[in-house]
Formats: sequence, structure tokens, C-alpha cells
Amino acid sequence: PSELNSERIAMKRYDVSTTSEAELREVLQRPSQKSSEVIMGIVSPIIKDVRTGGDKALLGYTHKFEKATSLMSPVLKAPFPQSLMSLSPETIEAIDVSFENIRKFHAAQKEEKPLRVETMPGIVCSRFARPIERVGLYIPGGTAVLPSTALMLGVPAMVAGCKKIVFASPPRADGSISPEIVYAAHKTGAESIVLAGGAQAVAAMAYGTESVSKVDKILGPGNQFVTAAKMYVNNDTNAGVGIDMPAGPSEVLVIADKEANPAFVASDLLSQAEHGIDSQVILIAVDMSEQELVAIEDELHTQAIALPRVDIVKGAISHSVTLQVKNVQEAMRLSNEYAPEHLILQLKDAASVVDLVENAGSVFIGQWTPESVGDYSAGVNHSLPTYGYAKQYSGVNLGSYVKHITSSNLTAQGLRNVGGAVMQLAKVEELEAHRRAVSIRLKYMDENSI
Ligand code: NAD
Repeated sequence: PSELNSERIAMKRYDVSTTSEAELREVLQRPSQKSSEVIMGIVSPIIKDVRTGGDKALLGYTHKFEKATSLMSPVLKAPFPQSLMSLSPETIEAIDVSFENIRKFHAAQKEEKPLRVETMPGIVCSRFARPIERVGLYIPGGTAVLPSTALMLGVPAMVAGCKKIVFASPPRADGSISPEIVYAAHKTGAESIVLAGGAQAVAAMAYGTESVSKVDKILGPGNQFVTAAKMYVNNDTNAGVGIDMPAGPSEVLVIADKEANPAFVASDLLSQAEHGIDSQVILIAVDMSEQELVAIEDELHTQAIALPRVDIVKGAISHSVTLQVKNVQEAMRLSNEYAPEHLILQLKDAASVVDLVENAGSVFIGQWTPESVGDYSAGVNHSLPTYGYAKQYSGVNLGSYVKHITSSNLTAQGLRNVGGAVMQLAKVEELEAHRRAVSIRLKYMDENSI
């Protein structure tokens, strides 16, 4: 009876053939975020405070936000004591399996040898990669324990060869940090864990404090305060720190056809909806009958009410939609326009549809590939662009931890071959010293019969 009484959890449905483009754009809007000025107004004093006040200011914020008033030192240095990593054998096994798959996939992204091209006889241009020396990895805290995020950020840093890996995560109220995160930090060779969250943790890593190491790049997801702080320090030339990408609430778009199992489709939608009330899930139903659609909706409701996080799910579903389309091409057009963080293809020939994907963070192909496997253990990274940023950003990958350096190496003949073009362009730009750097050498060659 309680089930009968509970209000039905359902996504709003739109038939694309009878919905205007303007209305479609409207329904595919992400849930609005608090204005960035409001958030910046909150985080900038925190950042300035930590920058000038160092450890003392950092601890003060941890005492305030995390209520961890007993915490006396903001940093836990490696080697981490075994007692802080005590985990069940099952959890250790799960972390180890995931670690190895993530390591394998990211190690394969390494460029074995530098790129080398002879653009003209005697002119060799090269490009080679070097790891970013010091990286700061933010692992969100709040209520959730997120060892998976620690692995997704830490393993590629280790594979890339970053010399200094610093983790940061808000401690629990008793001042401790979850053993899963300590174990992941240990496995990836982190030098320390900053026991702080939010803007204060980002500021500490960006500028350094007495005990927090300054880093060159900060990566990792987080709430709006974390994201705003990352953008702030990225824009501050005094910090000299890069960031991975802007992050927003998690989202998924599922494209399913009549062959898809309704229970599988519903479970994928819900596994994203349980992330947070601001998450968004979209179902694009390809050529489905009313009966087939209702089967998915029934499953969604039944599975949702049985979930521990049903209240969060309700919030997310309230701004989530189903779009009915006639064919896969139409589905992909809408998906590419939305640019989802996660794209799940529960379609007959799912693998062949991948060719049509233009914008997405990560794609999950076929009925045996739930998004959860990518979230944790398959090997792909789960730190992905949200909020439509998949149109211009990649998810975290090995390349996020390296920079590319180019080089050119010319012989005398090479300089003869290209010198005329250089001198002419220098002349056009009125940069005489540039022109002379070539002409002096050409003259020298002539005088010395080179
Ligand atoms: P969090 O670690 O991001 O933020 C906690 C910090 O927020 C606190 O330490 C505090 O400093 C700060 N804060 C809270 N209220 C504040 C206030 N009023 N003023 C100033 N600072 C304040 O943890 P969270 O809040 O649980 O958020 C986690 C986020 O990370 C969620 O949005 C979740 O969706 C996201 N996430 C994303 C991914 C991904 O890969 N996309 C993975 C995991 C988590």
C-alpha cells in the first residue's frame, strides 16, 4: 500500500516530432547553478585568507566547515601508517582490480617516442612530452567516500611520472580521513594528503603553505565552491597553477531502442540520478511504442522507490526528460547537441553508432556495459566534462598530466631553405632583430663557404 500511495517518480515525456526546436532547447537545459558571482564572493576571501595566513587559516576553515576541531595539523605525510589503511580484504581486492585496469588503460596512452617531422630538407621539428612536476588532486568529501575518484586522479599521475602527487580531501568531523583514500594515495605514490576541503584546500595547494606543497596543476571534481576556487587560482598569475576543466553536476544520456531491456535502461538512469538532486538524466527512446515506453517508466518507478537515496533521485528526476524520436540519426543529433558527460547506447548495433558520436565525455556501448563499470573499474577515467563542456574538453586522461614541448633543429642547408620566408615575415612585422638573426647567419655561411 505504501507503494501505491507514494507519488509516481517519472520523467516528463516529449515527442520530438511535435516539439519545437526552441522548446527542445529549453527542456535540455541543465539545472541552473547558483550565480558564479555569488559563489566567487564567498570563495575569494577564503582564498586570500589562506594565501596570507597559511596553515593557521587553513586549519581554521577545516574546524569551521568540517567541524574537525581536534585536527592540529592540516597535512598527512607519506609513508602513511598501516593503521590508517585498515580495510576489508574485499575492499582491498576491489581497489586493486580497479587500480590495475586504470593503470593499464592510462599506460597505453603514453607516447613511446617523440614525434619527429622533417618539414623541409634540413629542418627537423619534434614534439616530446614531460610530466607536470607537481599535481594536486582534489577528492570531494561531504558525506560520500570516494576512493574511485582518488584512483581516477592518482593512477594517471603515477603513470605519467609526476614527481610530487598531493591529495586533498576534507576530513571527517573526528579529524580522520577515510582509509580507502589513504590506501589509494599510498598505492599511487602520493607524497601527502591535505586534510582540508573546498576553496581553502584549493588555495593551499595553489599557493602552498608552511606544510602544504605548492603544485603546478589542480585536478578533480567538487562542489561549486571547489570549482569556483579552481577558476580563481587559475586566473591568478601569482599562483601559476593550471586546472583540469570546469566541473558541474553529473549527467547521463541514454539512447535506447525497443530491443533494450527496460530494467537495464531504468537502472542506468537511476545510477546517475542518485548522484545529487542537481544531476540530470535524459532518455532518448528510438521508435518505441507506448507500451515499450511505459515498461521503462514502470521499472524506473519501482526501482527508484527501493533505493536508499530515493529522495535525491526524486530531485534529479524532476528536471529529467524522455525524448521520443523516430530513428538513431535523430537521437544522435540531439545527443551531440546536448554533449553529455556519459552517453549510454542500449541499441541493437550499438558499436556501429559510435561513429556518429561527436560530443560526449565517455561512451558506454551495448547492454552489458552499465556506466558503473566505467565509474569504478573498467579502466576508463570517470573525471569527465559536464554541463555541455564535452563540446570542447576531454575528460581526465594521461595527457592531463603532461605538457608537450616542441623543438626545432636546423642544418645550415635548412636555414638557407627557410631563411627567405623568415626574413620576409620579420620585415612585414617590422621586427628587425628577428630578420637579422637569420641574415647574420646567412652572411656568415657565404663568407665561410658553408
Ligand atoms: P566537496 O568536497 O566538493 O566540498 C566540501 C567543501 O565545501 C567543504 O570542505 C567546505 O569547504 C565547502 N563548503 C561547503 N559549504 C560551504 C559554504 N557555505 N561556504 C564555503 N564553503 C563551503 O564535497 P561535496 O559538497 O559533497 O560535493 C561533492 C561534489 O562532487 C558533488 O557536486 C558531486 O556531484 C561531485 N562529484 C563529481 C564527480 C565527477 O567525477 N564528476 C565525482 C565525485 C563527486
